[in-house]
Amino acid sequence: GIVMCCTFGDQADMEWYFKHDLPLRVAITKDGRMNENAPGYEEMTIKEARKRIIEDLKNNKLLLTQTPIKHPVNTHDRCGTDVEILETPQWFIRYLDLKDKFLKAGEELNWHPEFMKNRFDNWIKGLQWDWCISRQRHFGIPIPVWYCEKCGEVLLPDEGELPVDPVNDLPGKSCKCGSKEVRGEKDTLDTWATSSLTPQIAASLFPDIYDKLYPMDLRPQAHDIITFWLFNTLVKSQMHNSINPWSDVMISGWALDPKGKKMSKSRGNVVEPQEVISKYGADCLRFWAAGSKLGEDMPFQEKDLLTGKKMITKLWNASKFAIMLLGDYKPNKVDPAKLKTIDLWILTKLNRIIKLATESFEKYEYSKNKMETEKFFWQILCDNYLEIIKDRLYNQDKYSKEDVESVKYSLYIAVLDVLKLMAPIMPYITEAIYQMYFKEREGKKSIHNDSWPEYNQKLVNEDAEKAGDLLVDISSAVRKFKSDKELALKTEVKKLTIKCDEEQKKLIEFVIDDLKAVTKANEVDFGEGTDIVSEEFELGVNVEI
Ligand SMILES: [Zn+2]
Ligand SMILES: [Zn+2]
Repeated sequence: GIVMCCTFGDQADMEWYFKHDLPLRVAITKDGRMNENAPGYEEMTIKEARKRIIEDLKNNKLLLTQTPIKHPVNTHDRCGTDVEILETPQWFIRYLDLKDKFLKAGEELNWHPEFMKNRFDNWIKGLQWDWCISRQRHFGIPIPVWYCEKCGEVLLPDEGELPVDPVNDLPGKSCKCGSKEVRGEKDTLDTWATSSLTPQIAASLFPDIYDKLYPMDLRPQAHDIITFWLFNTLVKSQMHNSINPWSDVMISGWALDPKGKKMSKSRGNVVEPQEVISKYGADCLRFWAAGSKLGEDMPFQEKDLLTGKKMITKLWNASKFAIMLLGDYKPNKVDPAKLKTIDLWILTKLNRIIKLATESFEKYEYSKNKMETEKFFWQILCDNYLEIIKDRLYNQDKYSKEDVESVKYSLYIAVLDVLKLMAPIMPYITEAIYQMYFKEREGKKSIHNDSWPEYNQKLVNEDAEKAGDLLVDISSAVRKFKSDKELALKTEVKKLTIKCDEEQKKLIEFVIDDLKAVTKANEVDFGEGTDIVSEEFELGVNVEI
């Protein structure tokens, strides 16, 4: 049969050109006009020529029919201009023969999240070209080579001569052919050809500890440049040093516009971080950003910034309230056996969060830490614990010295550790609160110099946790009862009767003082007769006013 092949219409043409050693016929000039190989159409742009060819065919009655078709056309991603392939001399790094080596190196990386490795693998498997590192741009890092004008030999500088600008500098020696006439390379390096050296460049700023810094631990970046920055950095490191440039890679998503579309200057839907920061502060923006799961894009919603703002206000107010309650407290070590059950309850919850947050951060899953700490802070610490313990700190003389010490210790630790857990996400507000109270007690210059909270198994007590959960459940049932009856929350309860099983009863008895304090009940009894059923454990709760 017969095929139509033009050098170069597309990838297939190009492959045939090389495979069958076809003669090269270039019909388009660098500025996109037809040349002498297109007689009759010289100087026309491609689009003009197309129109003209059809007219000519019509005029000569050669055109039988015209049908519109749809087909893919490669275009420039920025401006949409059609791509035409030209043959020009370029600099390449040969690496198509190293695909297996790169795939294996990718296996050795710890990917966060795991599934992003697919993009890396697919890119390598699909590579059809070596790495073209030369660009025809006015600005960029020069390619340090000269060409001998006489024999065409490529002249390289010695390493000691670098950096050189071959357009202005001359080589230190003459060509093998004896000629001194040279032409400097005008092309510049592709951006990735140098940004792919960032680990080595950054480490070389600290020559004394270079070996400690390189290879590095982590490459954090977004998913759009896995095939560029990440891949090329790995290529360079493997080719120069036969090692991976880092052990872990953390791939984040994109911030999208509120409708979930990619932000771009041409669409005019870019939300400028600086504007958001000046309106809400950096903590709010960070709080929002830390809500994204690794590898997933997230639309920018202004209301999420308001959630951050509320978090800041609540952190400030709740901490100030706690600090007021703590007064001149000096932190001491406390024997867990001497802690009151409800204090052990919050410390148990806190330690579970510490464990989870630490494990999440180890895996670079910062959003999990943010979400769980936020929940603990609002629901456990603010909505419940602060309410439950208020009485013990307002009326300290009503309680034993040990019980007061227990609550102060627990409150102090809970607030401090929440601040520490939030510090990487909201560095400013947590630091402000730390400076106000905790700095002089902890003896560190800044919260960011202080240690990460450590999980303490001794402060995890399942019975205390269950007992506290029961208390919270019953007290919110009482709260609901009072608000349904339009009674003030501080309304005294003559007698509170709880219907529960024996095991629950035993647990509730551990926290009965606190239950009385928070519900304002004079007496708590167990038995039948229910006004309401609690939400979580479905206990019958009878409230006698
Ligand atoms: Zn373009
Ligand atoms: Zn020469």
